[in-house]
Formats: sequence, C-alpha cells, structure tokens
Amino acid sequence: VPQQVTASKVGQLLKCVRPFSPGTPLDPDDAGEAAHYGTAWHECQEILVKSGGLLDLEDALAALQKVSLPSGEAKSLHAHALEGWHCLNKWLMGDNPWGETFRVVDTEAHHATAFQRIGPKYSATSRVCDFDLETHTYDLRPGEFGGTYDLLVMSERRRCVIDHKTGDWGAFHQPEEMPQMLALATQTGADAVAILHAPRGLPPQIYASEVSPTALQNFGRRLRAAMRRIGDGSMAPSEEACKFCRARSTCPAKDGELLKRAGAIVSAASGLAIPRTPEELGRFHQMIGEVEKLMFRAREEIKSRVVAGEIIERPDGKVLVLETRSYESLSKSSIVEALGKTEGEKLISSLRKKGVVSQGERVEMHARKG
Ligand code: SF4
Repeated sequence: VPQQVTASKVGQLLKCVRPFSPGTPLDPDDAGEAAHYGTAWHECQEILVKSGGLLDLEDALAALQKVSLPSGEAKSLHAHALEGWHCLNKWLMGDNPWGETFRVVDTEAHHATAFQRIGPKYSATSRVCDFDLETHTYDLRPGEFGGTYDLLVMSERRRCVIDHKTGDWGAFHQPEEMPQMLALATQTGADAVAILHAPRGLPPQIYASEVSPTALQNFGRRLRAAMRRIGDGSMAPSEEACKFCRARSTCPAKDGELLKRAGAIVSAASGLAIPRTPEELGRFHQMIGEVEKLMFRAREEIKSRVVAGEIIERPDGKVLVLETRSYESLSKSSIVEALGKTEGEKLISSLRKKGVVSQGERVEMHARKG
C-alpha cells in the first residue's frame, strides 16, 4: 500500500510523487520516542481543551501507557501539557493577533476531502471519515486526501484551525505557508491557521495568521495537479524531499552511495568463506541486505535501458526483451481499497468464515537494535 495523501504529507507530495505511487515499497514507519511522547501530549491537550483546563495525573499516566512510555514521565508530561493549555487558553481569550475571543468548535476530527474544478476555480468537499489508529490509515475514496486537525475554533469573524507541535525543531512562524496548514484550512473551511508550538523544556508559543482565498485556490491547484501525477513514474530528488521519505531505501534516485560501494560488495560476496562465528554471520547477514538492494537497483537500471531501446545480450546469448503480461492480485488491502473499510472488512470476515483465508504463524528473522 503506498503512502496515503494526508494533510501532514502534502508537503512531501508537492515535492515528489513517487512515495504515493502504487507499487512503491515503503520503509517501516518506526515512530521514535519523541513521536510517542508527542502523541501522549496531544491526548492530554485534548482532555484539557474538552474539560476547560482539567487534567489529572492519572490522565497523563494513561496517555503514557497507551504509547508504552515509562510512567515515571507522568509528572513532567502533566506539567508540560498544562503549560501548553495555559498558553492556548490565553490566546483563545483574546491574546491573539486579532484581539478576538475564540470558542472551541471541535477537536481531533478526521476528514476526507476532494477537489472539484468549477470553471477556473477549485472547490473542496469534505466529509468526516474513519481513521485506523493502528495503521494510521484514513478511509479514503479515490481522489480524496485525509487529514486530522487538533483543534478548530471560531470567533465572530474568523474560523481558525490549530495544529499542536511538540518537537524542538522546525520553523512555524509562518503557518499560512505550510502545506499541512493549507490542507487543514481547505478541509475545515478555515480562514486562519495557527500552530501551538510547545517543545519540551521551552516556553510554548502560538503562531497564527490569516489565509487568503487566493492562497487556498493556489494550493488547491497545486495539490490537485500533484495528485493527478501520482503513478506517472516521476520522482524529484532533493535534500528536503528525500530527508524524511519512506520510499528512500528503494529509490533509484537515492542509491548513489550503494552504487559507489557496489564493487566492494560484489567482491566481498564472491570471495567470501563460509561464515562460522556469530560475528562472521552478523557481517554476512548485513551484506545479504546490501546485495539484495543492489540487485533490485541493477534490475531497475537495466530495464530502463531496455525501455530506452538499447539491445542488451547476456553471455549465454539471450537478449533482454520487454513483454507485457496481465496479472490479477487479491489482498486484504486491495479489497479494502476497492470497497472501503466497512464493506471491505465485511467481505474479508465472510471469506475468513468460509475458510478461504489461510491463517497461521510463522517465525521471521529481523535485524533490531540490541
Ligand atoms: S528518496 Fe527522494 S526522489 Fe526518491 S522517492 Fe523519496 S523523495 Fe522521491
């Protein structure tokens, strides 16, 4: 399943469509400790917003347990979340660029949004959709993108969508230029966007700005164009795009380093004695991974040259040719993708009852940090 188009990923999509294209293998999404802490902080903030400022230490503890972080951090999470709330509450009460009082419309809602082009203009239609917490997947229909806002607030004149950030990196002083915020504004019909930036150990701050209808139109045009390019085979490497890309390890544009090492890998593989000690076996296992990546890359390179019209003959006299073969594939994700989450899961469950789905356990070997 390729990367879904979501508000938090549209910035990446506008830079490079390859991670979103069908068939692109994605690296595992191993959220680090900082991301888990951020999730727990978000949960505490939601409780504070909904209760008007009440948060028990037990709430912080439960939020930490949900993301498997040590309970010893509950006190500091509690204090950190309250700091964020005080800053937010002051802002809602009028300490904002417009001097207006805001009321909460809703928190943490999941939306699926599609664009329509009406004459020269783009209009967006959003619906509330399901979100699978385990796989972080939205129940999207073709042409839709997903998104979840942290907080939606309204004054008499403005509708503002707010996102919370707890990382100690990033520049958020111009939220109106962030693709994620433009996507959230599009989904919620907001005309203002804000970031509550609450890094651990630093004073929280809110950056807010209006978003003009022209900016939203331009964003809609760019996003729609990028979504239409998904699957066209293009890729656009750049430091910014590739840094956090989940399709990086299989990307033909990003394996220069691997290719530089290709000679060393191949000669190491060909001159290898049968490994015996645990150290030799460990080295051997790591090398297998590199050889596999190299083989994948080599096949891609050779195929692209055959596509370009080059005649390539192997030492055994066989010539490489391109043949089109039709295929069919059926998987749980293809069923859910075609029928939607509810109908798809119904069908999978009925197939399971009929004994069509084989189940079992297998032992797999993976390399993990010791
Ligand atoms: S590594 Fe870079 S070029 Fe390759 S798919 Fe990712 S963003 Fe695109």
